[in-house]
Amino acid sequence: MKTYRFKLYHSDHNTALMRQINIAGLIYNHCVALYRRYYKLFEKYIQPYVLMKHLTKLKRTKRFAYMRRLGSQAVQDVVQRIDRAYNLFWTNLKRGVKSSPPKFRKVKKYKSFTLKQAGWALDESCGRIRLGKKWYGYFQSRKIDGRVKTVTVKRDAVGDIYIYIVCDAHPAQVEARTGKSVGFDFGLKRFLTGSDGNEIVSPDFFMQNVKRIRTKCRNISRKKEGSNKHERARLELACVYRKLANQRQDFHFKLARRLCEEYAVICLEDLNIKAMAHLWGRKIHSLGFSEFIEILQHKAIELGTQIIFVDMYYPSSQLCSVCGYKNENVKDLRIRERECPHCGTHHDRDRNAAKNILMAGASLRRASRPAISGDMVRPEQSGSVVDARIPRITAAGSMPKYSAKNQIHSLGGKILYVQRGQHDNPRKNFCTHAWSVNRLP
Ligand SMILES: [Zn+2]
Repeated sequence: MKTYRFKLYHSDHNTALMRQINIAGLIYNHCVALYRRYYKLFEKYIQPYVLMKHLTKLKRTKRFAYMRRLGSQAVQDVVQRIDRAYNLFWTNLKRGVKSSPPKFRKVKKYKSFTLKQAGWALDESCGRIRLGKKWYGYFQSRKIDGRVKTVTVKRDAVGDIYIYIVCDAHPAQVEARTGKSVGFDFGLKRFLTGSDGNEIVSPDFFMQNVKRIRTKCRNISRKKEGSNKHERARLELACVYRKLANQRQDFHFKLARRLCEEYAVICLEDLNIKAMAHLWGRKIHSLGFSEFIEILQHKAIELGTQIIFVDMYYPSSQLCSVCGYKNENVKDLRIRERECPHCGTHHDRDRNAAKNILMAGASLRRASRPAISGDMVRPEQSGSVVDARIPRITAAGSMPKYSAKNQIHSLGGKILYVQRGQHDNPRKNFCTHAWSVNRLP
């Protein structure tokens, strides 16, 4: 799966798209209300196709005639979105994860609608797209490769409209490379610390923009709510935030590419970002760890790099990377360097952790393929291996089918199909929107 993102040129008739997104928001709220009422009355949830039928009936009435402006597939997609959200809510309930069912949303803040097979046409030679009956020009930054599956129209807080084109591209057969392997430890001070001494510092994009954000926020609070000036001030702030997000994304993409070109195997710690954010606050989100890992995974598949996740409970910073002694008094994060009480080696905290992650990752990697004798294997660790060479592992059988729904993981040589939205680790429940380039298959 590949997602392309293009920006629509500004035009007067873009207001028609804005209106359609608003209508999608209205339908969304209507459906949420129906779901709730139905549950109150019958203690049951509505099947999505029943709701779709109901909506097509509604469209014929005078009161809901406005729904006809939105393509029929977009209406169906709204229903499917709510259905997906409810399904996720139930599975979370079963697992004891805290979450809430779909809520009412402000129509102003509703972002997008999706078309599937019908209701659109692409004209790549001129860089135009037909949505409904109107043609819109977009900035064609690259050619589309593959069969188009869905087209999503999305607006951002600034008021620009983008189209997201999801394509069914066959993943290129990438040979696994041989080369350097490395372990990386995430940190707040240093973004990544490598076991080979490679240190990557992330610019603090939030702090770079914080002055601008402060002034813009102050500007907003001085304007009367609902006035034109208030709206203008809000747009200015949204622009700053968009710039910040773009800066961070650009840094992540460039870094991911560089790392994947340099190393053949990258070992990382599987992090619990939510818990970390709870401990250290804003800085974690400001660095965007989880976004970076998603980008890295995708780049790794493209370039044939193997990424190995070490279990999050692996005590990487407690162990000594030389003798394996477990020192439990290392919780104080202020102490960056220490000496091992057993063998006396002087350690840098992060680098020691990175070395341990590399060792654990290497043993995991060996566990997922025929064992080589004479190898030093650490105690068994749980974790997962994202392997770019999956098609070759299953050489005995047929090629696994790639589809939007199934993501393939290899764990210990076994091939597992993980349904979208059902994996235990939320990071692996990839989504099909939001980036301008390829995603995981
Ligand atoms: Zn030691």
